[in-house]
Amino acid sequence: MPLPDLLAPDFKETPYWWDAAPRPRLAERAPPASIDVAIVGSGYTGLSAALDLVRAGRSVAVLDASDLGFGASTRNAGFVGRTLKHGLGELIEKHGVTRGVAIYREMRAAFDHVLGIVREEQIDCKLVQCGRLQGALFPSHYESMAKDADLKRKHLGDEAHLLDRAAMRGEIGSDLYSGGRLIPDHAGLHPGLYHQGLLDRVASAGAELFAHTPVLGIERRSDGFDVVTGRGRVKARDVLVATNGYTGRATPWLRRRVVPFHGFMAATEPLAADRMARVLPNKRLFHDYNNNLSYMRPSPDGTRILIGGFTGGPAANLRAKARKLHARLARIAPDLAGIKLSHAWSGQCSASFDLFPHVGVADGVHHALGYCFAGLPMGTWLGHKAAQKILGSREAPSLFDDRDFPTAFYYWGRPWFVPLYMAHHDWNDRRGR
Ligand SMILES: Cc1cc2nc3c(=O)[nH]c(=O)nc-3n(C[C@H](O)[C@H](O)[C@H](O)COP(=O)(O)OP(=O)(O)OC[C@H]3O[C@@H](n4cnc5c(N)ncnc54)[C@H](O)[C@@H]3O)c2cc1C
Repeated sequence: MPLPDLLAPDFKETPYWWDAAPRPRLAERAPPASIDVAIVGSGYTGLSAALDLVRAGRSVAVLDASDLGFGASTRNAGFVGRTLKHGLGELIEKHGVTRGVAIYREMRAAFDHVLGIVREEQIDCKLVQCGRLQGALFPSHYESMAKDADLKRKHLGDEAHLLDRAAMRGEIGSDLYSGGRLIPDHAGLHPGLYHQGLLDRVASAGAELFAHTPVLGIERRSDGFDVVTGRGRVKARDVLVATNGYTGRATPWLRRRVVPFHGFMAATEPLAADRMARVLPNKRLFHDYNNNLSYMRPSPDGTRILIGGFTGGPAANLRAKARKLHARLARIAPDLAGIKLSHAWSGQCSASFDLFPHVGVADGVHHALGYCFAGLPMGTWLGHKAAQKILGSREAPSLFDDRDFPTAFYYWGRPWFVPLYMAHHDWNDRRGR
């Protein structure tokens, strides 16, 4: 018997988000001969910085190698949280209570910053504080959630609710989870519309935007920099590199410090309202508690389920990846076993060797990147911080700016070890570690 086709007839290999927020078409032109600030990369980081800078009176050129917003900023899951690869307990143990708590307070500031921008700029990106649900697959997951929740309540005043198996079953149409945690104030948004809103504000504030203008190199001069692009040279007083998972040969120092990896997502075809209500009745954003997460959310219009997972895997054939995501979806929510997928896509993220995001200056060139899969709030925030630094503002200091940006002797920009690292995660995940 032939296998049922899991992909809809009009299946697309582009982000679901691009249906509502397609890549903008710009007239192709050369950048100006000189500018105050050149920003390399047009994702959240670059646009957030551009908005501050242009409103402070600087002339700004945002240069992107591809379409504007081609990177992860229009490809992510739209989870807006306060997550870091290092738990609060680990930070307190390593750096003491004051510093550990201060780092998490800055995560809170980043989260509030995004909510503030969306509100003040009136960006219609379907932002809702719908809560984040986390599923425990092992007792060790639940214990770790409980410990983390206690610490965050004590030191940060954050509220979270621990859920037993029955309560979890009331939150998700799945029997996989023995318990979980709900963080009620975490938010979700439509990442494409958020990016589009930032882009519109940046353009109307007067920044110059250049698609298909790759930066090939940055040369230091006595009075600034020559930014060498595929469409000519731009003289800039300051340069900000905001290329995260797409960082390449043009910035070799950064290329040795961030490790790119792929994330994958898929969207279902539109589903009946009763089926949606069986899978995620309270419309939360969901992920499990593995090292290599599976995550799931309703589309902002409540008609589809979006799933993500297999992060760090090879960027192979997207149809094959879609079938794997379908199998994962059916395993989590068997009610969805018979549905078809309408979209599957991938995007590139980056991790730093110390698993912290970084903002700073190297050899006079500003950078903000290395978000380890939390760049929606952190990209927006550290773009803002980088801009404040360029402006010489008192608001510039950040705890993500006062540490070394490490590399490894064996790393020159080819992330050959990512599959091994992820296999190690998967091995641990099978054992609940
Ligand atoms: C599938 C997936 C799911 C994710 N889910 C979430 C989530 O739910 N929540 C969250 O917080 N984060 C999430 N992330 C991570 C988040 O999307 C990123 O961290 C964030 O978008 C990074 O923004 P950015 O502006 O720094 O970089 P990007 O948006 O990636 O933009 C970088 C840009 O730089 C350009 N560029 C690169 N080199 C050059 C050059 N030499 N010249 C000119 N331009 C150049 C690229 O073309 C690209 O457009 C996810 C990522 C993926 C892939």
